[in-house]
Formats: sequence, C-alpha cells, structure tokens
Amino acid sequence: MAKSKDKPTNSPATQAVTSGRRKEWTGAIVNPPVWRGSTHLYDTVADLRAGVKNNEDGRFFYGRRGSPTQWSLAEALTEMEPGATGTMLYPSGVAAIACAMLAVLKPGDEVLLTDSSYDPSRSYADAFLKRMGVTAHYYDPLTGEDISGLFTNKTKAVLLESPGSLTFEVQDVPAICKAARAAGIVTLLDNTWATSRFFPALEKGVDISIVAATKYIVGHSDVMMGAATTHEKYWTRLRRTAQQLGQVVSPDDAYLAARGLRTLEVRLKQHEQSALTVAHWLKDRPEVGRVLHPALLDCPGHEIWKRDFNGSSGLFSFELTGGDETSRAAFIDALSLFGIGYSWGGFESLALPVDPEKYRTATKWEMKGALVRLNIGLEDPGDLITDLAKAFEHYNNSL
Ligand SMILES: *Cc1c(COP(=O)(O)O)cnc(C)c1O
Repeated sequence: MAKSKDKPTNSPATQAVTSGRRKEWTGAIVNPPVWRGSTHLYDTVADLRAGVKNNEDGRFFYGRRGSPTQWSLAEALTEMEPGATGTMLYPSGVAAIACAMLAVLKPGDEVLLTDSSYDPSRSYADAFLKRMGVTAHYYDPLTGEDISGLFTNKTKAVLLESPGSLTFEVQDVPAICKAARAAGIVTLLDNTWATSRFFPALEKGVDISIVAATKYIVGHSDVMMGAATTHEKYWTRLRRTAQQLGQVVSPDDAYLAARGLRTLEVRLKQHEQSALTVAHWLKDRPEVGRVLHPALLDCPGHEIWKRDFNGSSGLFSFELTGGDETSRAAFIDALSLFGIGYSWGGFESLALPVDPEKYRTATKWEMKGALVRLNIGLEDPGDLITDLAKAFEHYNNSL
C-alpha cells in the first residue's frame, strides 16, 4: 500500500495511533473493520473492465489484492518509515525476506549475507536461491565500508540484519549501504529487532526494510506476518513480485496486527526499560560472562548502536560462565515466568538456548560459555529477576 500524500508528519508515538485510519476505511468506528472477501463485486461490465487497468492499492479488485483492512495496516507501516513509498505484507517474516530478495535477484547474480543472518534466511539463500542460479556469500557482520572489497560485477544485493538475533552484533548499516549504493547494489535489512521506531532504516541508507511483524508489530504472539517497506525506486518491483507470487495476508490477521501496532510505542518503551534492568542485573552476576545487549559495552558494535539507534528492544543474550549443555538446560528449565520457545516480541518473557557458532561460515563465533537468549516481556522486571535468581541456584547445583 502506497503512502497517502496529504498527512502531516507527526512523531512516531502519534503515527502509531493515527496512521492508516482513513475515514473511508473505518466509517464511524475507530478500528478499520475486518473486510473478509475473495470476490469483489462491480456494478457493471464497464466497471469490471476499467478495474483491470488500474493496478493501484486502495481499489477493490479481487481478494488477493487486499481490502481496506490490509491497506490500512500497510499504509500505517509506510507512514511510520520515513522516506518510504510503500509496504507489502506477507504471511510470515520469512516470506517477506524471500519475496523481497526474489524481487531484486535473477539467475547469475551474487548476493552477500551477513554471517549473523537469521538461520532461515541462510537456508533460503543456500538452497532456494542456489537452485535459481544465485550464489550466496557471507560477510563479517562487523565489516563497514570495506564490504566493497567483496563486491564483484555480479553482486546485486546485500542482506543486513542489525543487530543479529542471536549474537546481537550491531552493523555499520550507513557505511555498508553507502558502499553498496555507490556500486549500484541494492540493500535489504532485517529490521525486526528495532523496527522503524528504533531504527529508521531507509533514512540510514537501506533500500528495502523488512520486519517479521510476527514479533513487535503484532506483539501478542498470536499472528504470523511479515512486511517489506521501500522507497520509490524499488516499490513497483517489490509490489509486482509479491503479486506474482500470490502473497496475501488474511484480513483477520491484518486486523490483529493493526491492533497491536496501536500500542507499539508503549510496549517498546516498556520492553526497552525492563530488558535494560534485567541486562544490568545479569551483568553483575558471578554466573554470567558477556551480556550481548546492544546498549551494553560487552556487545560488539555497541558504539554504532549508540550512534545510529533511537532505542533498544527486549531481546538479548548472555553467556553463562563455566556451564555446559546440561547446566544451561537446568537453568532454563528452572525458570517459571519465562516460556521456552522460538519467536519473541510478544508480551510474555521467553528463554532459549542458542548456539550461534553452528551457523557461521565467514567468521568464527568465539563462545566463552553456553549462550541463553531472553525475550523480556511486559511482566514486572522485579519478578523476572527473582525468577532468574532462583534459576541460578539450580544452575549452580547442577555444576
Ligand atoms: C522471527 C524472525 C524472522 C522470521 O519471521 P517469521 O514471521 O517467524 O517467519 C525473521 N528475522 C528475524 C530476525 C526473526 O527473529
């Protein structure tokens, strides 16, 4: 859905509340309702014929092109990303990454991926893109403008993810994007951790900004969704590719995602504060080595986070000192407020054993101890700390 042109640019908190709520979509109520429909009806054959000529968002055509429920959400995400022309929605974050990359790559091309990429992004590149004749190479996430040394005349795209969702290395996104743009290479960023609120990606030089809306946009752990937002140059290509691949999200899911979006600002701020409280507490524990939180000194790229980001969200990792697989499991199993499960960005806290060294190919991840990733939810951080302290007793007994 492309941006509506006559809106004033408000602060992000206001935008999260007002964006996408066009009167013609909401009628007299506050939230755009769920418009369920495959068939869209035309008044006359002449109207039907005219509809084919205008492949524009905001026009009824057929269910796959969406309805006001999806248009409203997409428009809101576009308005919240400074410099954006439009947003496409996908049924998962992985679908958004896969379709956005397909929009800019063709057989014979090479693509560079950060070595800290989300594992399914790697599998997609190594298996699917390879079958399509696209070669994937991996680069050190801490590389900056020197990335240009890896460019060949076949390099057509660079995938960034900052911070990485296991190891939290913060990338020099502006430097990488500047080098790529100078070489005519498109950049795609997995911006799930920060969202446009904490990292306005297009302003920092990114061409296509992608989020797993499953995480903070939805915020309630009950919907899978992805979104890709881009500027004028890539908008038509991104949109056509998504349409050709039949990408559509259900109006019910779009409704829930839009509902989540309205509280994004207060949720993110609370996730930020609580995660910082827990991270600083962990840093002082004898059982803990490095705390890999972009706002803490231990985190590779912390200085870049300070320079480029407007905040930090609720996901980070920490190293246990001296623990092995068994003691890490004893620690996690002893937690009662933290669920054990994939995903994150919801209101509930989660703990996950993570082993990033298994996924690296361009760099070596030096493990100083078993790694635990925490999603800090919206519970009272004091209760979370009590829970973690109790789990450390189990951990110490298991050593
Ligand atoms: C979860 C996640 C995705 C994928 O999103 P899904 O909606 O689960 O497909 C992509 N990138 C990152 C960093 C993620 O954490």
